[in-house]
Amino acid sequence: MKTDYDIIIAGGGLAGMIAAQSASYYSKQRLSILIIDRNPEPTIGKKTINGWVCGDAVGKNTVDYMTERIKIAWGNPEIEHPVKGVMAFSPDRETSIPFDGDGYMLNRQQLPQRQLRDAKKAGVNIQYSVALRGLIYENGTVVGVEGTNLVTNEPFKKTAKVVVDATGVTSMLRNGLSIKSKIERKIDRDDLESTGRHIMKFEQGIPDKTDFDPDYCIIHLDQDIAPGGYGWVFPKGKNKVNIGLGVQQKELIKRNQRLGAHDDVTKLINDYVKMNKAIKNPKLSDDPMDSNNVTGNWQVSVRRQNDCLVANGYMLVGDSAWMPKPLDAGGIGPAIVAATILGKNIVNAIEANDVSETGLWQYNIDFINDYGYKTAGLEIFRRLLQTLTNDQINYGMKHFLSKLDVEAISKGEHPDFGTVGKLGMMIRGALNKKLADGLRFTAQQNKVLTEHYYNFPKKPEGFDAWQKTLHHILDESYSKIEV
Ligand SMILES: Cc1cc2nc3c(=O)[nH]c(=O)nc-3n(C[C@H](O)[C@H](O)[C@H](O)COP(=O)(O)OP(=O)(O)OC[C@H]3O[C@@H](n4cnc5c(N)ncnc54)[C@H](O)[C@@H]3O)c2cc1C
Repeated sequence: MKTDYDIIIAGGGLAGMIAAQSASYYSKQRLSILIIDRNPEPTIGKKTINGWVCGDAVGKNTVDYMTERIKIAWGNPEIEHPVKGVMAFSPDRETSIPFDGDGYMLNRQQLPQRQLRDAKKAGVNIQYSVALRGLIYENGTVVGVEGTNLVTNEPFKKTAKVVVDATGVTSMLRNGLSIKSKIERKIDRDDLESTGRHIMKFEQGIPDKTDFDPDYCIIHLDQDIAPGGYGWVFPKGKNKVNIGLGVQQKELIKRNQRLGAHDDVTKLINDYVKMNKAIKNPKLSDDPMDSNNVTGNWQVSVRRQNDCLVANGYMLVGDSAWMPKPLDAGGIGPAIVAATILGKNIVNAIEANDVSETGLWQYNIDFINDYGYKTAGLEIFRRLLQTLTNDQINYGMKHFLSKLDVEAISKGEHPDFGTVGKLGMMIRGALNKKLADGLRFTAQQNKVLTEHYYNFPKKPEGFDAWQKTLHHILDESYSKIEV
């Protein structure tokens, strides 16, 4: 079948733009690529009417990963502020764990414009202001997309050999996928965090590096402040901050019952800003570079990536594939890694004239090898953390983390909790003993899950058995954590 393009990238957000540039790079611009986004040119990549809602933090290592492989380099103004890492504080603020190493605070309103210039230079075509509604199919294969041109109000239809779905967490395309495929379409409500943030300027209040640090992204673990999630204070300069929090709805309901409150996410964020003593007279940013992006709420998934990332003529990348890291909801890093990888896989498949599930399958394996191997283990760990009280988090962070565990967490890996077992009788309190057991259990399940992911089937034929075992391990883990 003759198609309008070789590749259509649905969604011109962070992941879609990189996927397009990567495919252009690996094909040496031989393939025709179209990005379709529902926004007009000046606001391409905007997630919601409120902006590019994000914490804006990304590790330098993942940006380097992209630069080394596909030669995309970011600079000023899309990189707004460098940081030395992330510091996670216990609820009593007595213990902190550093993680993620050097990184950047991005300006998410500026970045898409940089990406747009780079994509155009790489020969990528862009279609603005089209809201996609669904996929077009032929003989059990995705062959295009359809929607509405928001400027002319006319129907929009284009075909391609492969459609890459980069339309974000709420993807209508994935939800409506109606060919036989191994892709999961829906997510469990409890695997979504409700999050929000403000970008603010402020005067210096009482200096306190547990409240604001121009060199570190701060995370506050606290089941009263951000139940089932965490609060963040990420520096965008000496007097500028991205401040917000994420919660799990289920835990928010429990927290409100416990405290006799009726708070929603926005109220929690505003209270969180008020309680920060280092931030005085905060005001929403008046920088022109934040003009469409100062405040807003959105959702982010915190589970493993979709069990399968490809179907006939169709691939998932970024939030539409539920790629954010389960522990901290960082989705930029995995989106960069996956989109970089995807370019090579898609070009190989098109050049081999096989864009079927089998032809695209290698993308599953390459993503797992470079990132996806750890996400299921981290999902179990996240589920355990969400069940803990503030006292347990304080105790656990103080007593259960060895130097090796902290190193593992800094690298984004699951800690081993090797010393927890040796502490034995010294652990005070039944709840803390239960926590110690839980930590040891998650470490053990993480090993099993990582090994299982490294055994991801080389061909689609082995997938059903692999997935059955995966869900068996996960179900066993969930039920043990919940008791
Ligand atoms: C409050 C919050 C804080 C976060 N903080 C961080 C952080 O500090 N660090 C980090 O690494 N990650 C963070 N994340 C996650 C991160 O923002 C995402 O992982 C990242 O933006 C994913 O990029 P994406 O391109 O996959 O999706 P998106 O950024 O959602 O882009 C999707 C694009 O597709 C377009 N689109 C959607 N539907 C359609 C349609 N039907 N038709 C046409 N176009 C469509 C959208 O308009 C958008 O342009 C945070 C998320 C939230 C919500």
